[in-house]
Amino acid sequence: MTGKVYLVGAGPGDPGLITVKGRECIEQADILLYDRLIAPELLDFAPSYAKKIYVGKDPQHHAVRQEEIHQKLVDYALAGNTVVRLKGGDPFVFGRGAEEAQVLSANQIPFEIVPGVTSAVAAPAYAGIPVSHRNYSGSFHVITGHECSDSKVSEEEWRALAKVGGTIVILMGLSHLQQIVTRLIQYGKSEGTPAAVVSKGTTKDQEVVTATLGTLFEACQARAIASPATVVIGEIVTLSASLSWFWPRIAMEQ
Ligand code: SAH
Repeated sequence: MTGKVYLVGAGPGDPGLITVKGRECIEQADILLYDRLIAPELLDFAPSYAKKIYVGKDPQHHAVRQEEIHQKLVDYALAGNTVVRLKGGDPFVFGRGAEEAQVLSANQIPFEIVPGVTSAVAAPAYAGIPVSHRNYSGSFHVITGHECSDSKVSEEEWRALAKVGGTIVILMGLSHLQQIVTRLIQYGKSEGTPAAVVSKGTTKDQEVVTATLGTLFEACQARAIASPATVVIGEIVTLSASLSWFWPRIAMEQ
C-alpha cells in the first residue's frame, strides 16, 4: 500500500516553535527528509527506527538536487512509508514546498501540509519588530531577495516595491542587500526609512542590526552579519527600541 507524505513546517530555528501537529508527524515518521535550517533537536522526536536523510543544500555537503528530493519522496511513499518532509519555517513560504506537493499530486501520493511558523514573521518578532501595527503599517509584503539581480527585476517592479506602503520583509536577501537598498532608494524610498536585519533569528546565535535604508548594508558589513537572515524595512522597525525582548547572548553570559 502507498504510504503518505507530510510536508511539515519546522519553524524558524527555536525548536519550541514547531507545531503540535508537526511534532506528532515526526513522532510517526518512518522516513525523515530534512533541510539545512531546521533545529537539530527536532530530529530527536523521530522513532529510533526512522531513517533520517539530510537533503539540504549547503556548501559543505554534496548538494542534493531538487529532482532527487522529489524522487525520494515518491519512492519512499510508494514503498509504503510514512514520510515526513521537514522544511524550515513554513513549507509553502519559498523553499520549494509547493513544487514538492505538485510532484506528490501528479504521482497520486496522499499527502498533508502542516504549516509552520515562518521566519518572515518570527525572526522580526524575536527582534521586537511586529510586522503590522495599526498606527504604523497596515500590510506586510514578503518577497524573495534571491531574484533581486538586475536581470530578473524590472524597473517597474522596483518602482512598485519602493512605493508600497507598509512593511517590506525580504527573505534570502543578504547576498543582494546592497543592490536591494540601492534600488529602493533610487526608485523613491527615503534613505532614512528604518530598516533591520535579523540574522539566525529565534536561535541562540540571533543578531539584530537596526539602521536606516541608507546605512543598512554598511552596518551589516561592519558586523559581518551572516545568513540565514531576514530583512525588514519600514517605520515599524523603530518599535524594536521598546519591544526587544529576546537576548540570547546576554542570557548565556549570566
Ligand atoms: N520556508 C522558510 C523560508 C525559506 S527561504 C520560512 O517560512 O521561514 C530561506 C530564508 O528564510 C533565508 O534565506 C532567510 O532569509 C530566512 N530565514 C530562515 N531561517 C531564518 C532565521 N532563523 N532567521 C532569519 N531568517 C531566516
